[in-house]
Amino acid sequence: MPLKSLIPALLATLSLACPAPAQVPPRPQWAIAIHGGAGVIERDQMDAATEAAYRQAMAAALAEGSRVLQAGGSSLDAVEATVRQMEDDPLFNAGRGAVFTAEGRNELDAAIMDGATLKAGSVAGVTRTRNPISLARTVMEKSPHVMMTGPGADAFSRAQGLEQVEPGWFFTERRWEGLEKELKRLGLPMPTRPLGAPAPNKAVTERPPLDERKFGTVGVVALDARGNIAAGTSTGGTTAKRWGRVGDAPIIGAGTYADDKSCAVSATGTGEYFIRLTVAREICALVQYRGLTLRQAADTVIQQRLTGLGGDGGVVALTPDGQLAWSFNTSGMYRARASAGQAPVVSIYKDEP
Ligand code: ASP
Repeated sequence: MPLKSLIPALLATLSLACPAPAQVPPRPQWAIAIHGGAGVIERDQMDAATEAAYRQAMAAALAEGSRVLQAGGSSLDAVEATVRQMEDDPLFNAGRGAVFTAEGRNELDAAIMDGATLKAGSVAGVTRTRNPISLARTVMEKSPHVMMTGPGADAFSRAQGLEQVEPGWFFTERRWEGLEKELKRLGLPMPTRPLGAPAPNKAVTERPPLDERKFGTVGVVALDARGNIAAGTSTGGTTAKRWGRVGDAPIIGAGTYADDKSCAVSATGTGEYFIRLTVAREICALVQYRGLTLRQAADTVIQQRLTGLGGDGGVVALTPDGQLAWSFNTSGMYRARASAGQAPVVSIYKDEP
């Protein structure tokens, strides 16, 4: 048989052996995912008004980030604007509403990272800056450093003209109550009420006691129209923390990470475990070097490695091609996502999408 007449058959065999590559969905023009903390969050323990307040706050924060991205803003701008809004909302453990240290202070941690340049900025233990996420960004953009802590970071914040507030700004009655409960459990003395805190408000203290196994840290990952991703996280840390404890949120690679070559991640949970597993970078490394999908990578690190080590919490993550994923091993995580052309989703409990 002449070779020529074999060609169609050969081509047919080849096309069977090498199927056409799967259709990759086109990258959305922009995308964003946010969290407001993970923990023991169960339907039967949540009253309707509290649940509605959280859903509304998550939807409003998501709308703020979506607005920035829709208008062509950068992923960094979207992350900063969204986290700022959540820092100003007393529902979350970040900025106003942060938890207290054992000494009755608010010591705030935050980080931001730009996936396009791998530039990052972070602060730990700051006490006077209204929006720690903006201070983290200022560290990234206006200093030669990546991380600043304590009084030095507070001084840099003042020098850079960031909005300063009295410590009382961060005070909320429910977090003060949470501290009281935790110190009792630890057998530690209760500090005096901070200067500038409002007088005890009976109406508030009579609300159902706060379950401190809900975390409330906030975090955002975003993809902009230029295809760049960014991540940011902000927190008061853990209730009754001591000795200048720093969590995972401001540790680049642990609670916060972004690289346009792999993914952007923001975490929430017991920070000590996230630091030991370098959770955020580990997820991105699995995407980058093992070729895992974002969902597979996030589940491997959270459901297998974090759970295996006895840690609790979760992440939101996204890739430059627009994959969005979240994974958590607690009964709930306040979370929400949106992308160009897709309806926003706000979820709390494990059984929600
Ligand atoms: N990850 C935070 C920390 O350990 C706490 C949290 O997510 O609520 O500081």
